[in-house]
Amino acid sequence: MLNFTVGPVMCSDEVCAVGGEQVPYFRTPEFSELMLENEKLMLKFSKAPAGSRVAFMTNSSTGSMEATVMNCFTASDKVLVINGGSFGQRFVELCEIHDVPHDILKLNHGQKLTKERLYEYDNKDYTGLLVNIDETSTGVLYDSEMIGEFCKKNDIFYVCDCVSAFLADTFDMAHCGADVMITGSQKVLACPPGVSMIVLAPRAAERVTNANVKSMYFNLADVLKNMERGQTPFTPAVGILRQINTRLKEIEAAGGADAEIARVAAQAQDFREKIKELPFEFVSESPANGVTSVHPLNADAYEIFMELKDHYGIWICPNGGEMKSTIFRVGHIGYLNHEDNTTLINALKDMQRKGKL
Ligand SMILES: *Cc1c(COP(=O)(O)O)cnc(C)c1O
Repeated sequence: MLNFTVGPVMCSDEVCAVGGEQVPYFRTPEFSELMLENEKLMLKFSKAPAGSRVAFMTNSSTGSMEATVMNCFTASDKVLVINGGSFGQRFVELCEIHDVPHDILKLNHGQKLTKERLYEYDNKDYTGLLVNIDETSTGVLYDSEMIGEFCKKNDIFYVCDCVSAFLADTFDMAHCGADVMITGSQKVLACPPGVSMIVLAPRAAERVTNANVKSMYFNLADVLKNMERGQTPFTPAVGILRQINTRLKEIEAAGGADAEIARVAAQAQDFREKIKELPFEFVSESPANGVTSVHPLNADAYEIFMELKDHYGIWICPNGGEMKSTIFRVGHIGYLNHEDNTTLINALKDMQRKGKL
């Protein structure tokens, strides 16, 4: 199998090996120590400001998006949602479900967020902003620093979904002033799905500690309280948290977050050069490193996905909804190298020879 999706992605041999071990009991000093080490490395890699905290959630990242909306905002907020694709739309729906007043800054698929568009919302009493730094459905990267300046100027609580951007694109939580950063185990962290991390800057940690949340499982005050001693309120995905520990240490040993970001960027660059010979167009005006969105000129995007899967044993990432036939995506994250890119390009060239592109 060769997997170019944007999650779950290919794991390193070490991470796979930990997955094959027995899962230990977790109310122990040993597991607490592992969790505190996970927290320390997560804070380092996200360049979080001093005093930040990490909530390790046993849920997919959508659960963490929901927990963030529930714990950080109420009916007395006024939130701006950047919506340029399916993940932006998910934040819109979460605001609707939880009765958080919101406005939508709508972008077309592939369109970048300019300063001009953003500052149409300047001085309009917004209290919060929700953005997916890499809108993974189209592979558009938004400028976390430019949005951060806007939030600082307007005293806005700034939430960054970095689920696919963390460790793929430059992100400095302290410098851009983000209050919350969300990511998950199955994207650039290249572990199995099931765990998601919410990094909370001091102001966010304080906010959730004082929140009045109507939920037991999504009560972040409870999660942070337990995490003071490296524990979680309920049984977490112990095995995956052990794999995350292996992976975080692997990244640290290979030069840390910046080295991993450079590796993903080079993987993306290599693919984007190689695919230029084929009848495709790039979709994103401001491409993120983690994924390339591709529009086939002569064929149906979903059929290309099926053909590669069924006849070549290669997985690319299809899109859902209105982008299903027009856009497929190729991930550059996980345990992939430049030779794997060549294998994919050769498969596409073979399809072209057979008249399927
Ligand atoms: C993958 C992803 C998510 C979360 O998806 P889950 O299926 O819940 O893990 C959220 N936001 C972005 C930007 C993503 O890429």
